[in-house]
Amino acid sequence: MTLYADISEHGRAARPALVDGFGRAVSYLRLSVTDRCDLRCVYCMAEHMTFLPKAQVLTLEELDRIASAFVGLGTRKLRITGGEPLVRKGVMDLIGGLSRHLASGDLDELTLTTNGTRLAEFAPQLAGVGVRRINVSLDTLRPDLFRTLTRGGDLAKVLAGIDAAQAAGLRVKINAVALKNDNAAELPELIAWAHGRGLDMTLIETMPLGEVEADRTDQYLSLAAVRRELESFWTLTDLPLSTGGPARYVQVEDTGGRLGFITPLSHNFCESCNRVRLTCTGALHSCLGQEDASDLRAVLRAGGAESDLIDAIRLAVDAKPKGHDFQIARAQPAVARHMSTTGG
Ligand code: SAM
Ligand code: SF4
Repeated sequence: MTLYADISEHGRAARPALVDGFGRAVSYLRLSVTDRCDLRCVYCMAEHMTFLPKAQVLTLEELDRIASAFVGLGTRKLRITGGEPLVRKGVMDLIGGLSRHLASGDLDELTLTTNGTRLAEFAPQLAGVGVRRINVSLDTLRPDLFRTLTRGGDLAKVLAGIDAAQAAGLRVKINAVALKNDNAAELPELIAWAHGRGLDMTLIETMPLGEVEADRTDQYLSLAAVRRELESFWTLTDLPLSTGGPARYVQVEDTGGRLGFITPLSHNFCESCNRVRLTCTGALHSCLGQEDASDLRAVLRAGGAESDLIDAIRLAVDAKPKGHDFQIARAQPAVARHMSTTGG
């Protein structure tokens, strides 16, 4: 061990970590950098969305300041999301700037979730600033269904983006939302395709966030049912791996790849939750499924000092709710804001 390592280890240990009122350490921040998107996925957005006026959205400097305050409080993982993060002007300046925390050893991982449409352009730059893994959302390999589900998207662009990401050396995980009437029958093919390219794959249940045109009880497909179906022709072996998040992983022996299940509705994952989310307006949500939020933008724009920001973050984390309260059968969404606002 060098003296430097001793000092940094000591520094880290001495840093008061963010721990909530239920004793859960919060070490993971999801940062939404925009509510805008170049797609309109049917389960995520309404067809005609009203986006936020620019003045309400945090500047790149404000986003950096808040994210860096979290890093100073012991956050080890940052995920950039949205809306679509790669449509935010200057997003590479933000990501490049935040990568200084990777270089200093204060951050373990800087990553992002993207729809992939602009990855062909951004993948080399992302790899260049130290991003190692990304999540790409892709629900189907059928160009027509892709166009319908995203209301006009071009599948070829996403596939080219995934190619570019792999060529740049990024590890890619594919996230697909399981939709009863749309991609249910295609899921085995999608999983086999991902595993055939050496990509991990995660399936997500639809969550009742925000008003959309479609009826969620129609779209909802239980992943317990998907798993039973997959097990009728594949061997799935449970993996002990836990990310502190909602995913449970299996090894698909037949394809040689890893498959995750995110089941907020049929399996409650709150007891091990280590994450909080910041919207692009500076609202800090300590739980995806509850309305509670702290307004960090107000702290910054009132000219708050670093200590005010840290106090506001600590207060919000301390009040992190015990768990969410999603029920697909309810007519109303559990929370009014869309996933694109909170950041998926
Ligand atoms: N635009 C980027 C993308 O699509 O990857 C990042 C933001 S998007 C809101 C993040 C993830 O949330 C995507 O994987 C998307 O499929 C998922 N998502 C959006 N609305 C959802 C909902 N109502 N239920 C479950 N997942 C949802
Ligand atoms: Fe855009 Fe992502 Fe929402 Fe689709 S899921 S509309 S790509 S923010």
